[in-house]
Amino acid sequence: MTGRFAPTPSGRMHIGNIYAMLGAWLSAASRGDGVILRIEDIDRPRVRPDADRWIMDDLHWLGLDWIGEPVYQSARLDRYEEALRVLRDAGLVYPCFCSRADIRAASAPQEGDGFVVYPGTCRRLWQADPAESRRRTDTGARHSLRLVAPDIDVTFNDRVFGSQSFNLARDLGDTVMRRADGLFSYQLAVTVDDLDMGVTDIVRGRDLLRSTALQLYIRNRLVSLGFGAAGDERDNGTHDAHNAHDARGSRDGVIPTFAHLPLIDNAAGRRLAKRERALDMDTLRGEGLSPEQIIGYCARLLGLSDLPADDAADPFGEPIGLDEALERFSWAQVRANLADRRTEIG
Ligand code: GLU
Repeated sequence: MTGRFAPTPSGRMHIGNIYAMLGAWLSAASRGDGVILRIEDIDRPRVRPDADRWIMDDLHWLGLDWIGEPVYQSARLDRYEEALRVLRDAGLVYPCFCSRADIRAASAPQEGDGFVVYPGTCRRLWQADPAESRRRTDTGARHSLRLVAPDIDVTFNDRVFGSQSFNLARDLGDTVMRRADGLFSYQLAVTVDDLDMGVTDIVRGRDLLRSTALQLYIRNRLVSLGFGAAGDERDNGTHDAHNAHDARGSRDGVIPTFAHLPLIDNAAGRRLAKRERALDMDTLRGEGLSPEQIIGYCARLLGLSDLPADDAADPFGEPIGLDEALERFSWAQVRANLADRRTEIG
């Protein structure tokens, strides 16, 4: 099994990022495996120059090592294009001409994780009047591409939050695969990457629980449509469509395991963001903290300490090494406290 670090290089990492990465690293290391490093830099407007190097430097300094060379999503655009073509050819994707304001006006109020369920306006146009939908794209109307969300439940077992079930149509809606500005969406890129890179152990924040249902669906569609068979050296290219599906089914039928972690809030009770400097690695290293102090605090946030996760008194007062964190680690420990953690610093 392979795990992954999947940071977005949008700034210096903070304690919440390190906490999630420590979780991913411990999960892999507890099986004697490792993680790959994937720099999620497709959302160009959010990327900050040099942030990838800060991330690698901080990971090195903490001893959170990874296998092989880092993979940059920006170098894999052809692959996302190919996946999109496969979904499009199967009639699963349609053009959407709505602006953000249109969608906000027509949508139900946002859920806590920021997901806006698209009301389906352009899907109805595409189904009822495909010629008009095509005319608009042909005449250059600005549009995104959305994946049709069928009315099915996707269930999976999360190692921390237990059994999960989401209805794609109701809970997720038709999701953007390529934005109107031409950028591929996180949901598409991350699904293609986890599939291509053989990632089978996914550890991340619980705000992505709902996205997991969508990613499992996209993965399943791509696999059943034979995505990946071409150019895959493990494939001799001689299958007919049906056999290719079977082959993918047995090879990539491995469903990844998921562990979603409680979120880390700041002292005011809001989720930690990269713009908060008090808990970012630049500040913490600048204050002279040691790697062990930071690992110790993140291990405590994971529930791997007898001290409560959000004891304000002395967050960095229990320094431990990665070996010690590994000895203490089990998913049962993490599961014991599902509440989001609040840090009193900052
Ligand atoms: N790049 C995403 C983030 O930084 C990772 C999401 C994921 O783990 O799938 O939030």
